[in-house]
Formats: sequence, structure tokens, C-alpha cells
Amino acid sequence: MRRRQADGGARSRESTVLVLSGRAWVRGRLQTVEIAIDDSGRIQSIGKNRSGAPRRDVGDAVILPAATDLHVHFRDPGGPAEAETISTGTVGAALGGVALVGEMPNTRPLVADVESWQDKARLVEGRAAVDVLLYATPTVPNALEPLSRRAGGFKVYLAPTTGIESPPASAELPPLWERLAKLRLPVSVHAEDPARFETSRSPSSPVEWNAHRPVSAEEAALDRLTRAPRSLRLHAAHVTTLGGVRRLRASRLSFEATPHHLLLSDRSGNDARFKVNPPLRTERERLELWEAFRRGEVPIVASDHAPHPRDAKELPFDRAPSGVPGVETMLPLLLAKVRSGELDLAVLLAAACDRPARWLGQPFGRLAPGHRANLIVVDFTARTKVAGRELRSPCGWTPFEGWEAIRPREHYRDGERIVEAGEYVGRPSGRVVRPEFAPGEPGALPTVHE
Ligand SMILES: [Zn+2]
Repeated sequence: MRRRQADGGARSRESTVLVLSGRAWVRGRLQTVEIAIDDSGRIQSIGKNRSGAPRRDVGDAVILPAATDLHVHFRDPGGPAEAETISTGTVGAALGGVALVGEMPNTRPLVADVESWQDKARLVEGRAAVDVLLYATPTVPNALEPLSRRAGGFKVYLAPTTGIESPPASAELPPLWERLAKLRLPVSVHAEDPARFETSRSPSSPVEWNAHRPVSAEEAALDRLTRAPRSLRLHAAHVTTLGGVRRLRASRLSFEATPHHLLLSDRSGNDARFKVNPPLRTERERLELWEAFRRGEVPIVASDHAPHPRDAKELPFDRAPSGVPGVETMLPLLLAKVRSGELDLAVLLAAACDRPARWLGQPFGRLAPGHRANLIVVDFTARTKVAGRELRSPCGWTPFEGWEAIRPREHYRDGERIVEAGEYVGRPSGRVVRPEFAPGEPGALPTVHE
């Protein structure tokens, strides 16, 4: 029986169940340590450990905190038959070193009231391989209060997208922000202003899609976010340009960039597999975003995993859905960039592990006593290539086909191994989680300035 720690201090009363030893990322650097994990699944101590608990030496690999991906779409319930589910999506997350996913509410039915939220929560229990935070959408005014006692956050769409046809009008936003601010949950926003879309002709390539939903539409919507009340816990999803990064940093708002906007441009491919909202930008804009990320100016990386079936993406460009899969490849692609010397490990771990977990109020993302022992073991010499057919997602394709990747060799969830030699060996013990910290508590609110 797992026990919960009552006080934050003396963890010695818990018994040690596992000691992991080797090089680990602790207090901002790699150092050789022993990490003791207690029977509540938390890190008990970091340093020398004399207990008789089972020991495991990771050899030449390194121990890192597991990641949080605060933006995924598993399309469950209501997705097409034989498509992604919460079960397959969370196993993909586990294999990709992700311990917690934030699942977006634009499923069918939309998660807009308590009943739809509860129906979705029931799909997590007994099925999910990792923890799931369920967002809700604030489209039913009298459902906001009861939803806020269950959901992990809200998602607001300022532009039409899969499952959302009519976003709120400009005049509706200020009262919506005021109401959401009182509920104190994180609010993620899809920021594009549809009034600025170029609709005169039908786009047939990623280059034309970029012209159709231009940078100006994104930056105009981000400008609206910077005028929202300060008490709102606002986070801008999938920012694609340096202009966006500068706006959001200046107003100290949280935001994310996706691996596809960091690594792919509107000329990386010519078919609908490269169709995504907001669009892939020009190579110059992509490089500016990547350089800002490398400098640590992008606080969070998130996948916006959208595993549309292959046949849907083979439709004519203008009819194909937007979105790419990514939860399983996000960390491996970026670990390969660390290995090649293009990205600092410290920058990656802050953006993929520490800040997103703190943004969602979760006690992990760093190797520290008292944190949940959600850890991965990475062998930086074990490079592989991304292959769509080998991914856990039934969609079977990826825009990163053939890209270099470093997959976690092991993944521990609360100290229990769920990935071993790169294979999923866990059980569906994932839970629905909500923010455990309120804003203002120590460690709660990451900003781009930390
Ligand atoms: Zn999304």
C-alpha cells in the first residue's frame, strides 16, 4: 500500500524501495549521485544511500526528470475508429519520456460541462499509462464554476479549429477573462485572429497555408492576450515567431513552442502532412524561433500532438485536417539536438520538464527530495531514426520521418519502471490530475524570466 507523506520534512520514516545510481541532472548540472526512492513513489534523498534496498546503476546513461507535455489531442472520445485513444496516446507519451499530458477539450462531445468532463475522466482511469490533466472549454457559461472544481485547466480558441466552429467575439473576451481569472486555473489560448485570414483562394500547399493564416493573424491575437487581466493565469499555445516571443516575454505571459514550429518550415514538405495550425512558417522565421528557444527565451515546449489518420492527411490539401503527431518524438528529437551540440541540456530540461510541470502545479520535473520519482534514463550514444510505422500511435506517420532521435531507455513512474530497453512494460496506472499548487505558493508559477 502506498502511503502519502503527511509532512514535507522527515522522509526517513518512509522505507527505501529502490536506489538508482549514476550520473543525474541535479541542481543544474550532471553529477554522480544515488537517488533513493521511497515506498510512496517519491524521491527520498539524493546523495549516498546506505539502505539495503535494491540498487540499479545506469552505467554510462544519465538520469533525467521525465517531461510534461501540456498540449495533446488524443481525440478520445469521438475520434475515428482505430485511431488514437487515451490508451495508445499515453503509451506513446511513456515511450517518449513524458510523465504527464494535458489533454485538450475539443473532443466529441466537447468537454464543456461536468457530464462531458466526467465521461472523459472515466476513459483515463484504468487505461492511461501516464497521468492526464483534462482541460475544459469555457463555452457553457453556467458550467464554468462546477467545471473549475474538476478540470485541470481551460482552453480558449480564438480561431475556428477541429471541433470548434465559432470562437468568442472580441466583445465577449474581457468578461470571459474576468470570470476565468476568478477560477484560478491555467488557461491555454489558441491565438490566431480569423479576421486577418486571407480567404480569397483555396490553399494547396504549406507555403500557401502560411499565406492563408499569416503571422499577422497570430501576432494580432497575441496582442489581445497581452491586454488580459494580470490575475489570469494565461498561457499562449504554439507561438511560431520571434515577434510573438518578444510580445509575450514583455508582458510576462507563459507560452509554448512546438517541435514542428521549431524544426520544420513551410518548405519541409509539400503535402497535407505538413498542414498545421498555426501554419509552419518560412525558414527564416523558423530559425529565429529556434534561436530564441536555444537562448532559453521560450519557456515551454509542447507537442500539440494531433495524430490524424493517414488517409485523412492524404485528402486534397484544402480538405485535409490540420495537425501532426508529436508526443512520442518531442523529447527524443530534442535530446538528439543536445547530443549534436545544437541545444543545451539545461535549456531543454527547463522547457520540457521543470516549467510545464510547475505551470500545471505538479510536484515533479526536477530531481529533488519530495518530488515524485518520475524519471527517465537516457543513453546519449544510442541514436536512432524516427520511423512513423514504429510509433505507438495508430496513425503510423510523422512529419519527422528519418530524423535523428534519442529515445529514453527507461522511464520510471513513481519509482516503478514502465519503460525498459525502450519498450513499454507498465500497467495503466495513470490518473486524472489537477494543479496541486495555487498561484503564489512556492514553486507554482514559472515565468520566462527564471
Ligand atoms: Zn492543439
